[in-house]
Amino acid sequence: MSCRQITLLSCLILCPWNRADCQDTSRWLVQEQRGSLTVYSEFPVDVDTIESQLQFVSDQLRDQLGVAGNDEAVELILFRSQSSYHNYLAQTLPEALQRRAVFFRNHDVSQIYAWNSRWLMVDLRHEITHVRLHQHLPFLPLWIDEGLAEYLETNADQQGSSSRRETVRWKSRLGFPPRLEHLEQVNSAAMMQGDDYRDSWAWICFLLHNSPATRDLLRSYLDEIHSGGVPGPFSSYAKQRLSDFSSLANSYFRKMHFHLISR
Ligand SMILES: [Zn+2]
Repeated sequence: MSCRQITLLSCLILCPWNRADCQDTSRWLVQEQRGSLTVYSEFPVDVDTIESQLQFVSDQLRDQLGVAGNDEAVELILFRSQSSYHNYLAQTLPEALQRRAVFFRNHDVSQIYAWNSRWLMVDLRHEITHVRLHQHLPFLPLWIDEGLAEYLETNADQQGSSSRRETVRWKSRLGFPPRLEHLEQVNSAAMMQGDDYRDSWAWICFLLHNSPATRDLLRSYLDEIHSGGVPGPFSSYAKQRLSDFSSLANSYFRKMHFHLISR
């Protein structure tokens, strides 16, 4: 679970990270730049693996949803331990202290802070999803932002074995499917509960795996925002374009399959 994003609004209120800290080369065991990506790390990391994992997420967003990101700078700031991460962020990003990683957008620089844990790659994939979405879009609903980040934080072949899948299936079979209208009311990270992350993930799974028509709904919705439009709540947008949208979703949640669908 993971709300680890600091919103743009919060970023502007908080003191921005002092970029000069990165020029303290004695702090970073690794300091490598690959195109627009720069990695600073207090511990040894395989930058090639990190780069390829992040690129995989970017490719998925581009191929499935037309989310292109851009060439603006992305900085990964990686800490050897939770305490080192806490010491560094305590003054500037206190909201980050309850999380394993955080995304911080500072004007045209996107920064991801994380500490060395067994979930590091999951965390980086999650946060780079936020980075690419926020590079491409002026805004987006929180449930889409977090749902896509949860979806892309693991490899496609691991989605089917997720414990979240079983929970969504049995709850749906008992008559309690994920409710999109509820998620649309959750408009701040502080309001978002663990179940909301799971249900946001489930809605993204439905949209991407049910059919080309449901995937294209999400794609066209994001296209409209990218083009400067304000399409309103996704639930209304979808029902206007797909008359059996709700029944398709409820049927999907009782199965939660992960079939690949053609473009
Ligand atoms: Zn997140």
